[in-house]
Amino acid sequence: KTVTVSLGDRSYPIHIEAGLLPRAADYLAPLARGRRMAIVTDENVRPHLAVLQASLEAVGVASEAIILPPGEKTKSWAMLEHVCDRLLELGVERSDHVVALGGGVIGDLVGFACSIVKRGCRFVQIPTTLLSQVDSSVGGKTAINTSAGKNLIGAFHQPAMVLIDPDVLDTLPARQVRAGYAEVVKYGLIDDFAFFEWCETNGSALLAGDADARVHAIAHSVAAKARIVAADEHETNGIRALLNLGHTFGHALEAEAGFSDRLLHGEGVAAGCALAFRYSVRHGICDRQDAERVAAHFRAIGLPDGLAAAGIDAPSATLVEHMRHDKKMAAGTLPFLLARGIGQTYLDKTVDLADVAAFLDAEPR
Ligand code: NAD
Ligand code: ZN
Repeated sequence: KTVTVSLGDRSYPIHIEAGLLPRAADYLAPLARGRRMAIVTDENVRPHLAVLQASLEAVGVASEAIILPPGEKTKSWAMLEHVCDRLLELGVERSDHVVALGGGVIGDLVGFACSIVKRGCRFVQIPTTLLSQVDSSVGGKTAINTSAGKNLIGAFHQPAMVLIDPDVLDTLPARQVRAGYAEVVKYGLIDDFAFFEWCETNGSALLAGDADARVHAIAHSVAAKARIVAADEHETNGIRALLNLGHTFGHALEAEAGFSDRLLHGEGVAAGCALAFRYSVRHGICDRQDAERVAAHFRAIGLPDGLAAAGIDAPSATLVEHMRHDKKMAAGTLPFLLARGIGQTYLDKTVDLADVAAFLDAEPR
């Protein structure tokens, strides 16, 4: 399946296909134009790197791998410098295509490096986690973390192509797949009730590795993301902000967990979506049954549906303090994604953090 992200002269295709990676050279060789390709990846992705390099070699394209340590800490100034230096050493030119092979960490870091090397070279995303396949590889947000917080230094830099092979998920730990699935469900919750129902029916099969379910979920998710990004590339008119559903609560929980393996991003998002729906009920704009249905699906899948399940017992004041440091905080208010129902999310700029604290007080720890 192919989905196009329509952004004028920055438009690009997303190719989704089981078994794509061993044939990735079909797509990459024309971009290589006979030149050597640089591939950046992390240690855990080595088996897939070997497949990719073999595919390129078979059609006579030489490649050079830059292999980084895995983990969120890799999205750092130090690693950015390292990647940029290595790309320059390899003689990368503006018209060359660097390959980012890995999860969101590699995609974000390499995308940012490519936005500044020679004032911007091209890059191709080959995402290898479910989260990166359905979310981070599409849309052009790139970033690193600093001591001041996550994703505070970065650029919008669209890839030239995204290649998605669901088969690479076979080596991804089940907990990581489940966490990425939270972002899949999110698309249903935002504006697509029918897709949420599809998730309720097919979520377990997807997580068990069903090939058709994977392709459907990924293609549907990237099509949703492509539509949103095309309507609001730089997050200026409120449409792209819809993608932050569950992320304000989720970010606070992740911050409380120290952005560590204690709570993966997707786990924070699942709990955050459940909280956003319950908060919408408290606001009197959403039926309790809808909030309960969202929570029930996360529970059924083994994702957290609130503070207790996420292992967060911090006082509400502490969690709200994390929200105050959210980078979306502007002029003293924090735009919140609320829901009138499943598939009916909207941006609310009137949420009072004191009321959020009172809501969190009533949430079971
Ligand atoms: P990740 O890149 O750290 O990958 C998770 C783990 O899986 C890592 O240990 C990695 O080495 C390993 N791994 C990757 N692919 C594998 C495979 N096929 N088999 C076995 N192991 C594999 O994390 P992630 O969840 O993919 O991405 C999280 C990052 O994405 C965060 O930094 C977040 O800020 C960013 N993000 C960016 C955007 C965006 O729009 N740019 C959107 C959402 C998230
Ligand atoms: Zn997310």
